[in-house]
Amino acid sequence: MDEGTMSRREQDELEEQILDAVDRWVEREVRPIAREYDQADRYPDALVEQMKELGLFGATIHPRYGGLGLRATTYAKLVARICEVWMAPTGIFNSHLIMAHCVERAGTEEQRAHYLPRFASGELRGGIGLTEPNAGTDLQRIRTTARRDGDHYVINGSKTWITNGIYGQCLAVLVKTDPDCDPPHKGMSMFLCEKGDGFTVGKKLHKLGYRAIDSAELVIDDFRVHERQLIGGVEGQGFQQAAGGLELGRINVAARGAGMARGALALALDYAQQRETFGKPIAHHQAIQLKLADMSTRAEAARLLVQDAAERFDNGKRCDLEAGRAKLFASEAALHNATEAMRVFGGYSYSTDYEIERFFRDAPLMCIGEGTNEIQRIIIARQLLERGM
Ligand SMILES: Cc1cc2nc3c(=O)[nH]c(=O)nc-3n(C[C@H](O)[C@H](O)[C@H](O)COP(=O)(O)OP(=O)(O)OC[C@H]3O[C@@H](n4cnc5c(N)ncnc54)[C@H](O)[C@@H]3O)c2cc1C
Repeated sequence: MDEGTMSRREQDELEEQILDAVDRWVEREVRPIAREYDQADRYPDALVEQMKELGLFGATIHPRYGGLGLRATTYAKLVARICEVWMAPTGIFNSHLIMAHCVERAGTEEQRAHYLPRFASGELRGGIGLTEPNAGTDLQRIRTTARRDGDHYVINGSKTWITNGIYGQCLAVLVKTDPDCDPPHKGMSMFLCEKGDGFTVGKKLHKLGYRAIDSAELVIDDFRVHERQLIGGVEGQGFQQAAGGLELGRINVAARGAGMARGALALALDYAQQRETFGKPIAHHQAIQLKLADMSTRAEAARLLVQDAAERFDNGKRCDLEAGRAKLFASEAALHNATEAMRVFGGYSYSTDYEIERFFRDAPLMCIGEGTNEIQRIIIARQLLERGM
């Protein structure tokens, strides 16, 4: 069904159905395995198959290409619900959908028709390859190059920290087609690269948190791609294409943060009513109540900022300021609430038998991914100076 041609009431009904299905899935399938798979750093193959059935790999792809075509507001709620329990699995479809969004927004009609149906079904999965060993924030300094050779390009370089880098088969890879261009961003392009000879996994990266999902170094060595893989078919658009995808990416990460902030609160609230000290549940001590009140306020404020950014995105309005603000606040809220929840749990917070330690390990990534929070602040300030309040 196409959300774009549905009435508001129909959209709300669809939202309710999808969120109900996701809630049931999270309780039945995700919650029971989260601790075991996180600790073993084991890829959740069964969850991937279930995500395909739920349509998550096509969540934001237009129904014309076989996706669900969800509004960003619905999508953000769905992501937050999963992250209340376990954040990592959302990366499997979030990064994939940023790649799909890039093709849908900037690709040629031939690229859309060829790739989007396979992305939507989950038959072909992947993510985005921007970061390199020497350049993350400062993407204009990447060193990967694509040199034209007849109707092909030959790509050489490497990428790191790539989500879905091992189990994903296709990545949107940022390169320099004109390495000497000044300014450098005008010489950058994006290619859809399917793994194969010359485009391989260097190594799996081992992480503090965000485990079970693959992060990898990718090696690109004389990898030949046909010119029809150049996203949009024109050189020099890659930097804008990458930046454009990050707006939805920031709403994603903000939604993850809002979900985690709420999830950490839920764990703390439950524990505080069970654990007794000095003859009463710790929830009845004022010091703990102050924490719960602050955590609840942060979680709700994060949720509202995410909703605000997602609504603007859905209405086709500019939302870099709002998405940046939501990402900044919600990710810090996740980290803060995870830390405060650990204090509520006391010594047990340090035990791998309890869920809260995973929130504490997973939360910092939200402050780094899709633009660090230092950069978010700079983006917000620039927008304020340009657009006013
Ligand atoms: C688990 C994980 C998954 C990831 N997944 C992906 C992925 O799928 N695809 C992908 O392309 N990348 C991915 N990344 C990479 C991520 O996007 C980068 O780590 C991030 O953009 C920061 O880049 P950097 O690590 O190179 O840090 P740097 O750019 O080296 O920054 C280091 C520090 O300097 C600060 N800083 C830098 N420039 C400025 C400035 N101008 N003003 C103020 N402070 C500044 C930063 O905020 C940071 O605190 C992932 C990273 C992780 C950890």
